[in-house]
Amino acid sequence: MYRLVKIRPIIIDEKCKRCELCVDNCQKGAIIVEKDNGKRVKIDIEICSLCGTCVLICPSSAVRLCVF
Ligand code: SF4
Ligand code: SF4
Repeated sequence: MYRLVKIRPIIIDEKCKRCELCVDNCQKGAIIVEKDNGKRVKIDIEICSLCGTCVLICPSSAVRLCVF
């Protein structure tokens, strides 16, 4: 029996220091900084290629690859 799994990176907002290192290093431009109601960093999963760079580069360990 096979199970289809989906993997996607998520940003844990409580751990994110808003340094934007992940934004600058995402080759797909998939990480967005929202500035309404305070700064918030988000990943557009439709654009993300799952390369994992943001997970490796984040100095605060705020990005995790999650399996659904
Ligand atoms: S590199 Fe990490 S701490 Fe910096 S903005 Fe991205 S998720 Fe937040
Ligand atoms: S996994 Fe790669 S493509 Fe997706 S948001 Fe992170 S750096 Fe960008």
